[in-house]
Order: sequence, then structure tokens, then C-alpha cells
Amino acid sequence: MPDEMARPLIRGRGEGGGSRHLEASTSEHGAPVVGILGTGDFSRSLASRLVASGYHVVVGSRNPKRSAALFPEEAEVTSQMEAASQADLVFVAVFPEHHSTLVELKPTLAGKTLVDVSNGLRINRDGPSNAEQLAELFPESSVVKGFNTISAWTLQMGPRDGSRQIFLCGNNSKAKSSVMQLCRRMGFVPVDMGLLSSSLEIENLPLYLFPSWRVPVFCTLSLFVFFYVYNFLRDVLQPYVTAGKSVFYKMPINTVNVTLPAVALVMLSLVYLPGLCAALLQLWWGTKYNRFPSWLDRWLNSRKQLGLCSFWCAALHAIYSLCLPMRKSARFKLLITAQQMKGGDDVWVDAEVWRMELYLSAGIMALGLLSLLAVTSLPSVANTVNWREFSFIQSTLGYCALSTATVHTLLYGWDHAFDPDQYRFLMPPTFMLVLVLPAVVLLGRLALLAPCVARRLGRIRRGWEKSRHLHFALPGDGFCNGLEERMVKVSVRQPPAVCNDGVAFRNHLPLHSVTKDTTAGRA
Ligand code: NAP
Repeated sequence: MPDEMARPLIRGRGEGGGSRHLEASTSEHGAPVVGILGTGDFSRSLASRLVASGYHVVVGSRNPKRSAALFPEEAEVTSQMEAASQADLVFVAVFPEHHSTLVELKPTLAGKTLVDVSNGLRINRDGPSNAEQLAELFPESSVVKGFNTISAWTLQMGPRDGSRQIFLCGNNSKAKSSVMQLCRRMGFVPVDMGLLSSSLEIENLPLYLFPSWRVPVFCTLSLFVFFYVYNFLRDVLQPYVTAGKSVFYKMPINTVNVTLPAVALVMLSLVYLPGLCAALLQLWWGTKYNRFPSWLDRWLNSRKQLGLCSFWCAALHAIYSLCLPMRKSARFKLLITAQQMKGGDDVWVDAEVWRMELYLSAGIMALGLLSLLAVTSLPSVANTVNWREFSFIQSTLGYCALSTATVHTLLYGWDHAFDPDQYRFLMPPTFMLVLVLPAVVLLGRLALLAPCVARRLGRIRRGWEKSRHLHFALPGDGFCNGLEERMVKVSVRQPPAVCNDGVAFRNHLPLHSVTKDTTAGRA
């Protein structure tokens, strides 16, 4: 009881040690108090959102009178010192180069939570981060990094628009959880990124410019330029050079429309080729535990972007194709054909008609399947299917799309490969070049489906390893699961169990007593 009496009814700020939290400071109306240092764009949007979420906001400014009119009425705009002393959770909405001007608030902010919302000007790879520097300036405060990945606009609009995720990190778990609680109350989704050392990564997040798209976009553009030039030389320049025929009008639509499907098919093959390389490497190594070379890793990680680039080219090809009859040149060709018919020429060639029907049908089907792949690659859709469904769509239907697109191209090429006139400037028709990669991928996939290969790959992917293979069996166990490939020479404590197919293996031995003998053959 005497202890109780000795305790002050209202504790002075800074007492109690450690970090104090949001619940500790409330306004006279009972609303939790949140402080903001700085009165710029971010501060204004944050203040409006906090007020809307039921917080009492105290904004600290170097010149409160000038800035007060810019804030909602419910927010209190005061001096930096006053704001720092009223709230236990304070947002530092000031550019990092001005953090040092706040040092006079150090004693007032001791034991409180500081939220660093700052961003850098360029990607900082070496550190220290702004948040780490702020923590060095205010060693007695708990710094939490966060809110830098959302813009002032998103804050103003609220979580119904824009990104809802807020990445947070900090060394003091209580301080971090109070900021997470505040995020949830504002309608955002906090994502805990761990300790303050992750702040560099969080600060760099808004500065990246499509890092995962660079290589796929570069591939798409390079292939486009290559095939465009190739088609230009064959279809536009060759007739001009050899026969003086000017068909330069083909450049904006015709040539582009022949180039786009070529790029789409090669890009789609590039989606499935790294999977084949990975499977071949695993078969070669006899294990899935070796790391892939970094170029293959990066390639495997870019498959979604490669696939979306392929879909984009295919969709453009469909739109261009639909527009072909609208061109004046196409109408002239129709008129010429009509005149030929009047002249008694039979322009109906059965094989040609069938080729066109099948070619279009395969193209539409391929585009439909590609659209399905593109839609399921969206995170919101991918999250609604389980792993098996996702891999069925991306792998099985993906290979169906590749096969259908290959058939579409084959039908387009028809028998042109055997027509010497098609080798203009000694260059083979474009479709022949395009078909090389899909043919390799599809044949490779078929080879992997061969039962002996598929079984071995399946075992490897379930953790079986060629070089570490051991089978433990009790004496008299006469079974053999077929996994055994090498004889393992061990210090013998038990007689070998001999399998029906003659593979000898030892048993009951701890791993450390085992030495591998890869040269030993079957017993
Ligand atoms: P701003 O409009 O320029 O506001 C900065 C505020 O800092 C000023 O209004 C000023 O308010 C205050 N300040 C305190 N000491 C200062 C000093 N010595 N010199 C200059 N200003 C000082 O900037 P902002 O766009 O609000 O951005 C503030 C912080 O939020 C930055 O670190 C930024 O990286 C981060 N951020 C901004 C956005 C965004 O969309 N704007 C998004 C994410 C993160 P007083 O004059 O009233 O003191």
C-alpha cells in the first residue's frame, strides 16, 4: 500500500524506461495521440488519414502559423517540441538530409517510437539506410521504418485505392507492433520485414524500375528488330532489287504482322526452355540439391515476364490480322481477284482454303490458351488456385499453347519450305527460323516424358540422389524398390542383403560409417 501511494498519479514523459507505445498517450477525448514532424505533402495526407481513423494528430512545424490552414481542423499544428512531447509515436515526415536539424528534440523523443517514412534519391546498395542513420541520431528512441512505399496520394485516397501493403521493420518489437496496429486501424496491411537492417531494402523498393522486366523486354525488342529486318529484306527489299517492284507500303502493317507472331512463338519457347535445361541438369547431376548456374536461375525467375511479353505480341498480332482487310491494298487485291474470276480463272484452291481454315483455328486456340496463362499469372488469380491447379495451367496448358502455336506456324508455312522461290536472297522463310526453338522444346519435353526418364526425374525431384544413395534394410528384407544404383561399401557389421536383381547393399549402419564406392559394380 505505501508503494502504491508513493507512485505519482501522472507519470512524467520519459519515465518508465524502454519504449512507450501508442496506447500510452491519449487525447482528452480518449483518442490515441500521434505526432508528425514536418508539414509537407506526406504529412498532410497522413494527418487526414489518421484523423479519419480516429487518432488525435499533433503536427510539429518550424512555422506552425503558416502551415495550420493546410491541415484538417481536427489536427493540432504546433511547434516541433510540443508535438514531440505530446505523442509517444511520432512520424518523421522530413527529408533525411534534414533529420539532423531535429537533434534538439532528442531528450523529448527519448523512449518514444519514431517512424521513418523517408525515401532515398537513388538506389542505395551499400547502406547505411536513412532509418539506420536516424536510429544513430536518436539512440534512445525506437526507430521503425515504414510507410515510404506508399505515396501521399495513396494515403489521401485511403486503402481502397492503390497498394494496401505497408512494409515495416524495426529492432524494438513492441514499437513495431504498435505501428502495425496503427496500420491496421488505418485500413492498410502491415508486412513485417524484420529488423532495422532490412530498412535498406524497404527504402530501395520504391526506386526500382521494373527490375524483373528488363531482360524479357530487351529480348522481345531484340527479337522484334531481328525478325523485322529479316522480313523486310525478304518481303520488301528483295522484290524491289530483283524486279523493281515497290512494296514498301507493307512495312507498317504487313511486315509488323509477320514479325509479331515470330517474336511471340520464340518468346513462348523461351518460357519452357529453362525448365528443360533444369531437368537435364538434374538428370545429369543425379540430384536436385545442386545449385543451378546463376544465369539459369535468373532465366527461370523471368518466365512469367517472358510469357506475358509473348502474350502481348500474340494479342497485337491478332489485332493487326483483324485490321488487314481494312487496308486499301487489301481491297485492291480483292478487286483484282474478282476480275480474275470474271475472266474465268478458278481462284478456289481446295488445299489453300483448308490451310487457311486450319491456320486461323489453330491461331485462335493458341491465343485463347495464352490468355488463360496470362490471366492466371496475375497474383490475385494465382492466389485462388492451389499449386497443382496452377502448375496444370502453367505447365500442361502452357505446352498445349506452345504446340498449338507451333501448328499455327506450320500451317502458315505449309509447303513453302520446299519452294525454291521462297529462298529470297538465299534466306529461308521466316517460319523456318521461328520453328527451330519450339521444335527443340517440344521434342525435349517428349523425351522427358519417356517412362524411364520421367521416373528417374520424378525420383530426383522427391529427393533421391545418385551419389548419396543408400538403402537401409533389415537382414532378410527381400524387397528392392529399384532406387538402388550403386553399391555402397561400408565397414561391415551385418551381412549384405542381396536383392532379387543382384544389387547388394549393406544395412543398419550409421551414415558416418559409410564410404561411397562409386566404382563398385553390382554384386
Ligand atoms: P515536403 O513536402 O518537402 O515536406 C517536408 C517538410 O519537412 C517541410 O514541409 C517542413 O515542414 C519539414 N522540415 C523540417 N525540417 C526541415 C528543414 N530543415 N528543411 C526543410 N524542411 C524541413 O516533403 P514530403 O513530400 O512531405 O516528404 C517528406 C518525407 O516523406 C520525405 O522523407 C519523403 O521521402 C517521404 N515520403 C514522401 C512521399 C510523398 O508522396 N510525398 C511518399 C513516401 C515518402 P515545416 O516547414 O513545417 O517544418
